[in-house]
Amino acid sequence: MAEAKALTTRAADFSAWYNELIARAELADYSPVRGCMVIRPNGYAIWEQMQRALDQMFKDTGHQNAYFPLFIPLSYLSREAEHVEGFAPETAVVTHGGGKELEEPLVVRPTSETIIYSMYAKWIQSYRDLPVLINQWANVVRWELRTRLFLRTTEFLWQEGHTAHATEAEAEAETRQMLNVYRTFMEQWMAMPVLTGRKTDSERFAGALRTYSCEALMQDNKALQAGTSHNLGQNFARAFEVTFQTAAGELDHVWNTSWGVSTRLVGALIMTHGDDAGLVCPPRLAQYQVVIVPIYRTDEERGNVVEAAEHLRKELAAAGARTHLDAREGVKPGAKYYEWEGRGVPLRIELGPRDLAAGTVVLARRTGGKKETVPIAGLGPRILTEMDRMQAELLETARARREANSIRGATKEQFLAYMESNGGFVYAGFCGRHECEAEIKEKTKATIRVLPDEEFRSPDVPKTCMWCGRPSVTEAVWAKAY
Ligand SMILES: [Zn+2]
Repeated sequence: MAEAKALTTRAADFSAWYNELIARAELADYSPVRGCMVIRPNGYAIWEQMQRALDQMFKDTGHQNAYFPLFIPLSYLSREAEHVEGFAPETAVVTHGGGKELEEPLVVRPTSETIIYSMYAKWIQSYRDLPVLINQWANVVRWELRTRLFLRTTEFLWQEGHTAHATEAEAEAETRQMLNVYRTFMEQWMAMPVLTGRKTDSERFAGALRTYSCEALMQDNKALQAGTSHNLGQNFARAFEVTFQTAAGELDHVWNTSWGVSTRLVGALIMTHGDDAGLVCPPRLAQYQVVIVPIYRTDEERGNVVEAAEHLRKELAAAGARTHLDAREGVKPGAKYYEWEGRGVPLRIELGPRDLAAGTVVLARRTGGKKETVPIAGLGPRILTEMDRMQAELLETARARREANSIRGATKEQFLAYMESNGGFVYAGFCGRHECEAEIKEKTKATIRVLPDEEFRSPDVPKTCMWCGRPSVTEAVWAKAY
């Protein structure tokens, strides 16, 4: 049940606001195991909507789902040198089973490249077996010391795509295609604008040739890595001997890609659109897009109003809007408004005896603006149009906020001042040297989020490195990040 106390405001304490919002909207809870998270039905419903949309997009691009085991032999992890170095510090290892010490310890998967490519080695023989385009929906475990609900938890849910190709060009095209799928999902469903681009070597996935990322700016001006797509080259194919006979009859290693997004996206959604009253859910991902609250005083009124409301619910559902009728007794309309507002329901319909007599309802938007009295006739199409508009407005508002919190062509002094004042994205020249990257991180906590793709680059790409003044080899985008 909703509490009467208002949330801490975003301006007062963003982090407290985030935690209180999650509790108020009943999205998730802390588990008895430190660092783990219980996803409650309201939070899981958002994840299910996300899964549904993404799963369709994966299938539309030719992928199939499969499932690989949770346990991975410890020795598998060490076959790819960078991979083991990257993941060993955060793995959970099972040493005992059935009361006996295991001959070989098992890693609880932190990601599944190793187990999946060991299977691909069995399944792929010829160029005719390629490409292999597989995705799995699963949980993974990374032993995290500092955790935040949805953003960083020891166990989380995600999907991981793993593909194998005959050529480097095909693998690169797949890597870019899936990055683009993520971007489309984030913009069109989550209404969350993202920058796309390549990661520097120090931020790249352990074992990958190249990592590409979607980066979003949260309302506290910290960046969030929302999804990554990796061109793994032949690194894992060599480690797991995934070879195939080419059309010309030679033996070659396959080219792999992997790509993933996780329940972290629920956190991203909260921090992109939430306000001081609670969650604001973009219509396309809302469990309930419309909630109908009946208003009445007497039992007789109740009978009529609830009956009409149920009729309306069916009508709106038939029109294609996920609609819920909140006919709970003993909860006042005001308390219901407050509760659904906190849960981010895009549209609320209030229906009382007077509305019923006039053939109207009162329509309230979660994103604000005046309540409106509108005719019941034709409400279905009107609601759908309203939701499309809301979806588009949320994206535009988030984009405008991001741009208002980005600076381009910054000098070192401007960069330092911006980070000091809790600024957002900084676009500037970069010499490409790891020393500069490391020093900036140490001094300001800001990291290079991406070397932006062409469409995000500044019209005048700076000629010198913002930090050391040497010639710039690329533009980079810095921010403090989750
Ligand atoms: Zn430099």
